[in-house]
Amino acid sequence: MQKLACPKCHLPLHLENKTYKCPNNHCYDISKRGYINLLLNPDKATNNPGDSKDSLVARKAYLNQGYYDAILNQVISMIETYKDHDDLSILDLGCGEGYYTKGLKEHFLSSDVYGLDISKVAIDMATRYRKDITWIVGNSKNIPIQDHSLDFVCALFTVVNKDELKRILKEHGYIIHVTANPHHLIEIKELIYDEIKVKSDQYLRLGFQIAHSENFVKKVNISHREDALNLLKMTPHYYHIKKEKRGVLDTLQGLEITIDIKITVYEV
Ligand SMILES: [Zn+2]
Repeated sequence: MQKLACPKCHLPLHLENKTYKCPNNHCYDISKRGYINLLLNPDKATNNPGDSKDSLVARKAYLNQGYYDAILNQVISMIETYKDHDDLSILDLGCGEGYYTKGLKEHFLSSDVYGLDISKVAIDMATRYRKDITWIVGNSKNIPIQDHSLDFVCALFTVVNKDELKRILKEHGYIIHVTANPHHLIEIKELIYDEIKVKSDQYLRLGFQIAHSENFVKKVNISHREDALNLLKMTPHYYHIKKEKRGVLDTLQGLEITIDIKITVYEV
């Protein structure tokens, strides 16, 4: 059962025909594509927040080649380890174009899976994967989900708001937090920058009880030029390439890359 909440008054939303309504009669239509726009205008930082369309298209093409499936499988195995029943409620926060969300639903078929992103373009793309996922355009600082209704929140490479996570998760709910370690995609940084500033290993600890934490490192061979270019375009590094380094892109063939991430499971 869906646990959506009104982003204005935070009361539960109920579906009437093709419109979601709260008890205060705030109404939200389901788009033609099947997503729900629960992003309030004052929340928007710009007219089109989130990643650019080009970056999203590149991301979709790259992820669909399976190069990052090892990351998805790590997240799935963490949920398998910590779940205590089968009909879970799972939110993929900052889901982007929805590749990981789709993977979660494929694995946890009897669960309610939500994908939320601030980008309408991203969510519009995500709806093409599956219709049995609740796709939401919304703000991670004002998550339109009812209090204490979720078993798991997955946050992959995305900014999180601690108070909101605590509010939407059930007692003994879990956060699967995936963050990049300093050597993640080091080969791409070497390609683009003259000097690599390896940041210290500090990363945002969420302050909840840590149930499990591990580093996951894997080399992945990207065999096609097109896939390597897509990977570049889905990272912020691509937009920092200096003119004199642009030539690198013309001769780029395949690439061996390093996935180096930290997976932290928090119990709330
Ligand atoms: Zn309302």
